[in-house]
Amino acid sequence: MEHSGLQYLPQNLTSSFSPNQALLPLTACVNGQDHLEIGGCDVPQLAAQFGTPLYILDEETLQTACRQYRNAFQTYYPGESLVLYASKAWSCLAVCAIVAREGLGIDVVSGGELFTALQAGVSPDRLYLHGNNKSKQELQFAIESQCTIVLDNWLELDLLRELIQEGTVRAPVRMMVRFTPGIECHTHEYIRTGHLDSKFGFDPNQLEPLFIAISKQPLIHFVGLHAHIGSQIFELQPHADLPGVMVEALSKAAHHGLPVTELNVGGGLGIRYTEADDPPEIEVWVKTVAQSIIKACEQHQLPLPKLLCEPGRSLIGSACVTAYTVGSRKQIPGTRTYLSVDGGMSDNPRPITYQSLYRVVNANRMSASAGETVTLAGKHCESGDILIKEAQLPDCQPGDILVVMGTGAYNYSMASNYNRLSRPAALLVRGGECSVILERETYQDLIRQDRLPIGLLPAEA
Ligand SMILES: *Cc1c(COP(=O)(O)O)cnc(C)c1O
Repeated sequence: MEHSGLQYLPQNLTSSFSPNQALLPLTACVNGQDHLEIGGCDVPQLAAQFGTPLYILDEETLQTACRQYRNAFQTYYPGESLVLYASKAWSCLAVCAIVAREGLGIDVVSGGELFTALQAGVSPDRLYLHGNNKSKQELQFAIESQCTIVLDNWLELDLLRELIQEGTVRAPVRMMVRFTPGIECHTHEYIRTGHLDSKFGFDPNQLEPLFIAISKQPLIHFVGLHAHIGSQIFELQPHADLPGVMVEALSKAAHHGLPVTELNVGGGLGIRYTEADDPPEIEVWVKTVAQSIIKACEQHQLPLPKLLCEPGRSLIGSACVTAYTVGSRKQIPGTRTYLSVDGGMSDNPRPITYQSLYRVVNANRMSASAGETVTLAGKHCESGDILIKEAQLPDCQPGDILVVMGTGAYNYSMASNYNRLSRPAALLVRGGECSVILERETYQDLIRQDRLPIGLLPAEA
């Protein structure tokens, strides 16, 4: 096929319907005007109505990913299971409500994410609080809301003891313990977390003394172990190896009379951002994890634990795109052509942070063949504010709508107001309908927290 926007349509890219293997959302198609359509909505029309930059989230893709995780556990794991959505990927009311409706729990890593999930109506018995430096206030909030706390370090245990002594804790606190399993994976070093030299979790040789300390705390209900080895992982081997390490730790806890019954193997399954990416299907990932847990439990003669996992990116990454409007062009003969759009590192900090790669299509001319290679630049005052170094596009005119794919995870959640840009609006689309799930910030929103000391107040005219 000639290089054009059409090659990114799900049916042209992959025979599987695992959302994490698609570049465009599963409902993407091209309509009679050669425009990109998502969730039955014409993307250039959405851009005209709601402005750009604009996040467009396809409900069906998110829903499909949730269901594939849940169904795969039901197929391959005879024990109890719970899929948690790692909400740091994109924490907002609508997303929390959708994944909860699909029967998922939610993992949160701060008081703010916990508050968001609670406000979205998520039941606290499906909420898990992570974090390598939870404050005493966050722990108190977690205890009061009765979610599960994932213990990360000794200081936290001290803080919990203090809260118990102060009488904050009335019912036993449900707690899991995070440890570093010592498993390496090949991903960007900033998103690798399972190796021993990581800021997260207990070192494995601290587990015994920790179990002894915990067993003396009647108000702590220790339910299980947690490990997370990294993010954007394409190999299955690390997740085939992890259960052995975790089940061994589980059996140690059992020796201390701690009846731990839950194992959380974390998240980390990657998604396809470019044609070169080749992540396994959701179902295959779940099957690998489930089979390894079953095998390890047989070896240690332990009953099957309740099995949890907490994907973020592979649930929501491929469900969203970002629409931008084409602006200025700068041609440097013999060097490169810069094409600028109306957003950049403030709505997608991943390229400048992790050198992440993305693909883009011209939503106005999906079938036009790519005639030029341009550098897609953001509008921020940083030379490094480049969304895509080498983007292949048909000739673009100012006003054309460009769509960058795979922006559901770690985009809005990492967005900033750098250069005092307003954070974009986000739309949820489905069956030709759209609803705003995040309003575009206004200039007033930008100065909402600003205060002028009295001496600096502008003089009255
Ligand atoms: C980031 C993170 C996840 C989710 O990772 P993904 O790669 O988005 O699936 C899950 N658990 C923990 C503890 C994390 O820090």
